Formats: sequence, structure tokens, C-alpha cells
Amino acid sequence: MSLDCPIDSPAGAVADTITFSNVDGPGNRFVVFLQGCNFDCIACHNPQTIPVASGARFRTPVDDLLPRIRKAAPFLGGITVSGGEATMQPGFLMELFSRVKADPELRRLTCFVDSNGSCTEETWQHLAPVMDGAMIDLKCIDPEIHQRMTGRTNAAVLESIELLGYMGKLYEVRLLILPGVNDHPELLRRTGEWLARIDPAMRVKIIGFRRHGARDHEPALLEPTPEELAAAAENVQVADLNICVI
Ligand code: SF4
Repeated sequence: MSLDCPIDSPAGAVADTITFSNVDGPGNRFVVFLQGCNFDCIACHNPQTIPVASGARFRTPVDDLLPRIRKAAPFLGGITVSGGEATMQPGFLMELFSRVKADPELRRLTCFVDSNGSCTEETWQHLAPVMDGAMIDLKCIDPEIHQRMTGRTNAAVLESIELLGYMGKLYEVRLLILPGVNDHPELLRRTGEWLARIDPAMRVKIIGFRRHGARDHEPALLEPTPEELAAAAENVQVADLNICVI
């Protein structure tokens, strides 16, 4: 993790916000995208959020966000903090989620994190009292392929998925399918078996890589066809895993 990451700041390095989203957790959600990520994924569709922003002028206080959330609240089921990597700023997550939970008008909103799963158990335990759920990306169950895809090994990601599963805080695991890189049937079967050992009915979202927004790559990264995505879902399917494809 970058040392200049404002991890303890109650103000967030916010890249963007969306008032209504139905793809960032259950129901309609207000989404805060944080700036800065400790991965460097070849398939990142939002690479402008990777550099860590340092300095006070990049910080957005929770006080600036709450009125906007309050205005949208009648139409929301919850809020989600995404990235970049949301857990690089746990001080901000704590402040935002605690303030939402303490507010009589907002406390019915669920508070979710969308994460690459790289943070420590200590951070998840710290967030658990105010965090209702997390969506975790698993780029690949194989550590070497994961390293090639993200620049980092997957040990912490696997630990996060296990921990959140056992804590009852894992809403969904997301598998990005990159043809020829992480879609080998044996890899996907192994992934499904591993996830089903944690929760046989886990929600698993299969997401096809799309070039739009991603950086150029040599050789060019391929987009999966609908047939390839359906085959990937079949290969992951183990036990009662609750798989959806988008
Ligand atoms: S973890 Fe997410 S935001 Fe970070 S580089 Fe990978 S895809 Fe991009």
C-alpha cells in the first residue's frame, strides 16, 4: 500500500459519486468512488482512479456527502463505497458509515464496500460494526496468474473472502473473465469448489471484460463472447452457488 494513502483521514480522496446505481450492491445505491488503488490490473476499466491522491485539496469531508445522500435517500436502499480501492481509506469508511448509522433519517440505508480484497483482517474487523456487506473481486484463484493480472499476489484476497464469509459480511464475489488469461475450465472449477467450501450458496457474479475504458495492452485483451461467459458460469457452478452473468 502506498505510504501517502490517507488511511486514517475521516475525509475521503473521492474520485466521483453516482446518485443512483443498481449494479453496486442490493437495490438502488448512492455510490462513492475513491481515488487510489494498490493494484494495477491490466483489465482495469477505471485506470484513472489508480493513482493515490495526496494533499488536503483532494479530500472530501463526509459533511459534504451527507446532504447529497439525504436528498436521494427516499429512493435508495443503501450506499456503496467503491474505488480505486475503498479499503485503503478505512478512516473515511468508518466516518461515513458511522454517520449514516447515527442519522435517524439515514440509518435504514445499508452500507457496503466494493473491494479488491487486499486489506488486512484488522481492517475488516475494524469496519465490521458499521459495514453491512462487501463485494469482493477475485481476479484469479491461481496466485501467479493473479500476480500477472494485478501486480499483486492473491493471498490477502482469498483471506478476505474467507473471513467475510465466516463473518456473514460477504454479499458477493465477482469474477472478471478475461479470455485466454483466467478462463481455463480447470481454474474456474477450482474457483467454484473453493467458494462453495466457504458458502455453498454464495452469490457469484461473472463479469465479462469489456475494452471500453481500459488501457491498451499488447497483445490486445479479448472480450468474452456470450457463449464463453455462459461456459465460464457452467464451469464455476458447484453446489448451490448463486451465479449470475453480466
Ligand atoms: S483493483 Fe479495481 S480499481 Fe484497482 S486496478 Fe484493479 S480493477 Fe482497477
